[in-house]
Amino acid sequence: MGYSSEIYAAANKAMEQRRLLAEEELDQRRALLYRQVPRVQEIERELVNISVAAGKAVLMGADKTVQLKRLRDESLTLQKELADILAGRSLPAAYLEPWYHCKHCKDTGNVDGRMCDCMKHLIRQTAYEELNRISPLSLCSFESFSADYYPDEQLPMRERTIRDYMQGVLRFCRQYADAFDEYAQGLIFMGGTGLGKTHLSLSIAQTVIERGFGVIYVSAPNILSRLETKQFSGRSSERNEDEQLLQECDLLIVDDLGTEFVTKFTQAALYNILNTRLNSGKPVIISTNLSTKEMEQTYGGRLVSRIVGMLKRIDFYGNDIRQMKRVKNRTTN
Ligand SMILES: [Zn+2]
Repeated sequence: MGYSSEIYAAANKAMEQRRLLAEEELDQRRALLYRQVPRVQEIERELVNISVAAGKAVLMGADKTVQLKRLRDESLTLQKELADILAGRSLPAAYLEPWYHCKHCKDTGNVDGRMCDCMKHLIRQTAYEELNRISPLSLCSFESFSADYYPDEQLPMRERTIRDYMQGVLRFCRQYADAFDEYAQGLIFMGGTGLGKTHLSLSIAQTVIERGFGVIYVSAPNILSRLETKQFSGRSSERNEDEQLLQECDLLIVDDLGTEFVTKFTQAALYNILNTRLNSGKPVIISTNLSTKEMEQTYGGRLVSRIVGMLKRIDFYGNDIRQMKRVKNRTTN
């Protein structure tokens, strides 16, 4: 698929950074080894001299066979000496070569004139990051989630307290993130404002990203207005590109569904994205303040029955935690 030129430029830059980093690290390793074993520097210098001499010999065209053989023998002896020094210090044989991120393309992004897989991966990752920039990723973690804010009251119809229940929700989300793979079941977080739905979905996003998966985290109002703006300002190919990323990433998290300004366009776009993911079995996590009935009124029974049928529903109970935190801060300050 195609991406915008900004994405390509950013990915190229990141690739160049990788290459420079590998070379910089080599310089540091080499300098350190020179200090510890000065003989290594001499060997490397002699090896350079030999290759210069060999080049000259070829150019002079004189009786070069004998001379070249002598140079090659000298070079091999020196290389052996160098290898012995590295082995003697338990250093890898490639210690004095750049350690590239990708062995196939040596962090150039190309192999034999074709784009390397690592570059394709990097471009996709860059495109995800661009979409995630509009979200508060990295602000939340499981560690900063506290069930203490949830009331110690009996849960409706159940024999446990809300606090105890929410501890269970936290445990479930942690396990979900730790065990996540591209076939994981989707989830829907339901409940009022300020009950921790965003906190836990951001925490899942963070863990799953750290585990190397491609995650896009969007709030429904942000992403849908972004798609709509692109569609109606003559940038429908960019809109397409965004939609495809949302359909293809390993995990899509749509926060705050139902708070967006609903139009025919946003309804259709949402249906398209969610339906494509559900059809291909790709996981999605949705959080919403709406009840099932309100969702049906907003998005129609067709989409909602699919969502409810395919996603595991997690209910959030309690009081508005953001409000409680504000009160707590006010009284402790
Ligand atoms: Zn590569």
